[in-house]
Amino acid sequence: MRILVTNDDGIMSPGLVALAAALRDTGEVTVVAPEAQQSAVGHGITLHKPLRLRQTDIGIGVTAYASNGTPADCVILGSLGELGRPDVVVSGINAGANLGEEVLYSGTVSAALEAALHDIPAIAISVCAYEDVHLDVARRVAPLVLDALVRSPLAPGTVLNVNVPNVAADEIRGIALTRLGRRRYQDVVIKRSDPHGRPYYWFSGSPQETDSVPGTDIHAVRHNRISVTLVHFDLTSDGHWDGLGNLQTELGLS
Ligand code: MN
Repeated sequence: MRILVTNDDGIMSPGLVALAAALRDTGEVTVVAPEAQQSAVGHGITLHKPLRLRQTDIGIGVTAYASNGTPADCVILGSLGELGRPDVVVSGINAGANLGEEVLYSGTVSAALEAALHDIPAIAISVCAYEDVHLDVARRVAPLVLDALVRSPLAPGTVLNVNVPNVAADEIRGIALTRLGRRRYQDVVIKRSDPHGRPYYWFSGSPQETDSVPGTDIHAVRHNRISVTLVHFDLTSDGHWDGLGNLQTELGLS
């Protein structure tokens, strides 16, 4: 099995190195990852500048390339180019949760979804902490999730979004299939002045985790369970909208 490993924290991230090492016994691992931090770049791809691949030694004897592109670029470069097509893409291990609406911003999850767009099975895996990240549980879980995915394939276009609580292995209370909750960030726009007196802006914010009802990813990790959410790129809602009838009338199309 050919495994493409990527992430959004950058190729020197301890989580990426741990993931690539953990999957070496499962298949032939190739790493293509951003050369620098790309968290929260979402599903962007690069169309207006050249992309580079630079072979890099990440210290574990795995073929690895750093790219100046986004996580989605890395999946495209690692799937459609001269490196050949992988059988599976695994993205992570991200430092920081990817819960609820965070999947919309997440480079980690977007890399997995990019793979799904090319009909390649994919997993995104994150640990729910930015600092003092315990990688041991995620490192052990990643090859097991991959085995399970190979034995039980997902519907086309669907990826596994795995979030691991940042606790020791003996504190993990199980694993749960979840749906996305809602974190609701308290966003802040900070305005300051540069040395020339011109204003600049910097986003900041912290999640409020308002939707922590049972069944959600947020609820699961809060109760020390590993959360597995099936995520599809199709954002269509199955709701109904009465406004369309009025619109048809006003447009003279009813
Ligand atoms: Mn990240």
